[in-house]
Amino acid sequence: MNLSVGRAGARCSSSNSNSSSSSSRLLPRPAPPPVPSARSILLKRRSPTAATAAAAVEAAVDPTFVPRDPAVRDGPWNAVDAGLVQTAQQQASALHGSSSSSSSSSSSVAASSAGVVLLGQTAEQLGELAKSMGQPAYRGKQLADGILKGAKRVADIKGLPASFITQLQEAGVKTGRSAVHHTVRAPDGTSKLLLQLGEGRLIEAVGIPAQDSSKERLTVCVSSQVGCPMRCTFCATGKGGFARNLTAHEIVDQVLAVSELHGTRASNVVFMGMGEPLLNLPNVVAAAALMQQQLGMSGRAITISTVGVPNAINRLAQHKLTATLAVSLHAPNQELRKQLVPSAAAYPLEALMQDCAAYFKATGRRVTFEYTLMSGTNDAPEHARDLLALLRHYKLMSHVNLIPWNPVGESEFERPSRARVDAFKAVLERAGLPVSVRTTRGLEAAAACGQLRNMHQKQGLSNPQQLT
Ligand code: SF4
Repeated sequence: MNLSVGRAGARCSSSNSNSSSSSSRLLPRPAPPPVPSARSILLKRRSPTAATAAAAVEAAVDPTFVPRDPAVRDGPWNAVDAGLVQTAQQQASALHGSSSSSSSSSSSVAASSAGVVLLGQTAEQLGELAKSMGQPAYRGKQLADGILKGAKRVADIKGLPASFITQLQEAGVKTGRSAVHHTVRAPDGTSKLLLQLGEGRLIEAVGIPAQDSSKERLTVCVSSQVGCPMRCTFCATGKGGFARNLTAHEIVDQVLAVSELHGTRASNVVFMGMGEPLLNLPNVVAAAALMQQQLGMSGRAITISTVGVPNAINRLAQHKLTATLAVSLHAPNQELRKQLVPSAAAYPLEALMQDCAAYFKATGRRVTFEYTLMSGTNDAPEHARDLLALLRHYKLMSHVNLIPWNPVGESEFERPSRARVDAFKAVLERAGLPVSVRTTRGLEAAAACGQLRNMHQKQGLSNPQQLT
């Protein structure tokens, strides 16, 4: 079900009336001297005219830059933003419909091989494709195995007769693997890959290796969209525009690419790269299923992160995934949250928290709350106490993950000191709330979402590589 502007508006007004009944808990505290006021935060941002002009210049310099829709403005969430969000959701459903129609039944795959993507198809479906092209069914398993073993082009798949390879190429069958445009590695082993999609656009994937009681782990952070329409103020991706949703196979491709770079299987996947996963829910759910069915991952090893999309958390619950839901909160009250996450105007904090509580009730799964700490903005002990009160009020089993903010070029925010992070954490810990601080990994690799892509897009791209 797609987001409707009308429904979002109705939800907004009903939640606002709720918030007034609990105003003593949710009203923002007066800002202490080092905390900028709402007005000062807004005033420090570039004017809409300057931002639009800058986007236009970047678009002219680099055709693959994802410019904002010219009607999009910095500042409060408005009808243009709501329209773009609705469009993104409609496109996600249509994209899933078109990609799943070629994978939902073996006969449909075989009926038309043109435009077929091998990644994401089962061996049985690929067997039907092979049979439709006059080949024995076991070729399907060869195709499926070849893709999972790293074949980037159809010609790279081992054991196929040359005539079948030619047949597949002439039919326009693709592996579904993207070209690796650029990789960077930080001294701690964290990697960041820029993958170039068929049309030339870039997406990011991050690999985070770790040693866990003599077991090697590799967490892969994947993107779910090209760009993002949510405009979160502290996010590099949110400073650009939105181009399109990613298909399920384009998401799985990121996991394969990072695994190949690190030479080990992915143990965990987090949807915390570019894009808002719940705007692309059908393809994200399909990708999570593929990771389990074809990459042998546990559902519990997958985390889906969201800043909140009306009516989406309940739809996620209906899929009965065992994945972890991580909600990006970033503020303990609606006023401050609206400044940091403009889309919160259409999905107030109370409505979001009620949906999280319902999700916990429906799934029994603990919800993780991500809280990015920005110095002087949301990192005071008072904010921690308000956060504690908020989580206690909704009585859902939760875990708080504190994320010291990663610098983004041209941003007004600052990374908090270690002392401020520790003080914030101590307030939650003393109250017995499970809390962790995300270790900043690969800062040198520009590991915050959108940063590496922005850097490269400003430098322009070489010609897109075509993989077949
Ligand atoms: S934080 Fe996530 S949802 Fe917000 S703009 Fe960035 S990518 Fe989009």
